[in-house]
Amino acid sequence: MFLEQFPQDGKPHGWIEVICGSMFSGKTEELIRRLRRAEFANQKLLLFKPRIDNRYSEELVMSHNGAKFEAIQVESANEIYQHWKNEKIVALDEVQFFDQDIVKVANDLANQGVRVICAGLDMDFKGNPFGPMPYLLSCAEYVTKVHAICVSCGVPAQFSHRKAKQDDQVFLGAKDEYEPLCRVCYNKIKH
Ligand code: ZN
Repeated sequence: MFLEQFPQDGKPHGWIEVICGSMFSGKTEELIRRLRRAEFANQKLLLFKPRIDNRYSEELVMSHNGAKFEAIQVESANEIYQHWKNEKIVALDEVQFFDQDIVKVANDLANQGVRVICAGLDMDFKGNPFGPMPYLLSCAEYVTKVHAICVSCGVPAQFSHRKAKQDDQVFLGAKDEYEPLCRVCYNKIKH
């Protein structure tokens, strides 16, 4: 569990946090948990998601278990600047679907004292690094990798196996299309 350690020297500090993992690993629940605690402390925050993800709802970030939070959908990373009015927290869900400019935007906001919280898939269904995620992981101060449970053998899972016959990297789906698998079970199916 990530417990924030706020600097006490009175200077404006920003940083980048990344929550990553496979599908069904609880990334969005963890993001929402952090946001709810900040909201409770009256910290101003903005939550963004890329427009590509329109599962369940247009305006709410919803995790698979139904927890929700209001989000602004944007077409591009740079569009974030049109909405940001010095809020101290900027959260990004499904960050793997953002364009590469999100790396610059996240760093730029952190440099200006913003706490930037990113949540997303670290690997695509083929097990390759997903979009801007490896770059965000490299420059983040804090990284939390959460795990699903392998549906085949019950150990921690880090792969999102696509059950559907579809080869595009971006293919939205939930339980019918994807399942979390551990390394051993993923390799068995892949080969
Ligand atoms: Zn397994």
